Amino acid sequence: MTSLERQNIRDMAGYTWGEQPDDGKAVKLNTNENPYPPSPKVDEVLARLTAASLRQYPNPTAVPLRKLVASQHGLHMDQVVMTHGGDEALRLAITTFVDSGAGFGIADPSYSLYPVLAAVQNAQVVRVPLMEDWLPPADLAQQLNAAGCRLTCLVNPHAPSGALISLQVLRTVAEELAGVLLIDEAYADFVDPEVDYRSTTLVREYENVLILRSFSKGYGLAGMRLGYLLGAPSLIDPILNKTRDSYNIDHISQQVGYAALADQTYAAQTWRKVRDERTRLAQALALLGLPSPASQANFLLVQAGQNSVLDADEIYQQLKSRGILVRYFSAPRLRDKLRISVGTVEENNQLIEHLTDLLTA
Ligand SMILES: *Cc1c(COP(=O)(O)O)cnc(C)c1O
Repeated sequence: MTSLERQNIRDMAGYTWGEQPDDGKAVKLNTNENPYPPSPKVDEVLARLTAASLRQYPNPTAVPLRKLVASQHGLHMDQVVMTHGGDEALRLAITTFVDSGAGFGIADPSYSLYPVLAAVQNAQVVRVPLMEDWLPPADLAQQLNAAGCRLTCLVNPHAPSGALISLQVLRTVAEELAGVLLIDEAYADFVDPEVDYRSTTLVREYENVLILRSFSKGYGLAGMRLGYLLGAPSLIDPILNKTRDSYNIDHISQQVGYAALADQTYAAQTWRKVRDERTRLAQALALLGLPSPASQANFLLVQAGQNSVLDADEIYQQLKSRGILVRYFSAPRLRDKLRISVGTVEENNQLIEHLTDLLTA
């Protein structure tokens, strides 16, 4: 069979996603979904939707939603583009800012979709190893500039560790970086409010900063596929008006996204519950010989195999056979660890019970 796709597509490997069983029985702590459903206002919107409302094309650039996003961040609508999940935002940023063959910077390890999207664009992935504490090295921007990176993605809070890069460090990176800095804030909703991480100031201060947000984690809408980018109008305009698919946000997503975002009180309640459980779960797992670095996200990266009878892969397999899914990565720095999403109180209790059973004699 002759293959007709481009050479780089032929040579690349696709994304490996976390298991998504259909039976609804598993305790799913493997893909960092919000353990709580979206706001009840979303139910109301869905109940009101009619088939007839789908006859016409949706608002082309999702103006009402962009206005709401902008007002929540103290920005103007020209500084916002809505996307089909955060993942489309990443694809659009690469398409818009990285020439074929040019450098695309990432920290290593980080989100495994980045190199996949780079391969599609035939970009050159430049990996900068993170330090022991999962934070970037001081010469990050110098390394990326030397490699000619046109765009760099930093996930903050970091995935899969949950470590948070400070605003000061991000400011320095933005200042020193020759290309675009995309701060992937898929998990920013779960940052402790006491940390006072307010990164949208960077959008006002720098012409080369993009911030990515997602409704998948913070708003319990992973099934909807909705996200957005914030940035200077000079960065947003080419995406909004050139590289984006026309009508990339369907009518239902615009309605649902608006209702979810407007109900900040509800969303903030879910974030607080997740933070409380994050603390409790981290302590319980540490007592079982599974320590994790401090996380500002809705997951923990636990270290296995130090005092335990089972290694990380074995724990993953054993939990899976007991109906609990967590995430195992075989990458060099991750193969002795497990990434565990923070679930509801009941889900976390089930996890702790099974791990107690597996790891204590
Ligand atoms: C979940 C996630 C995203 C975006 O996910 P969408 O579901 O496409 O919004 C982006 N970056 C990271 C690191 C993520 O974990």
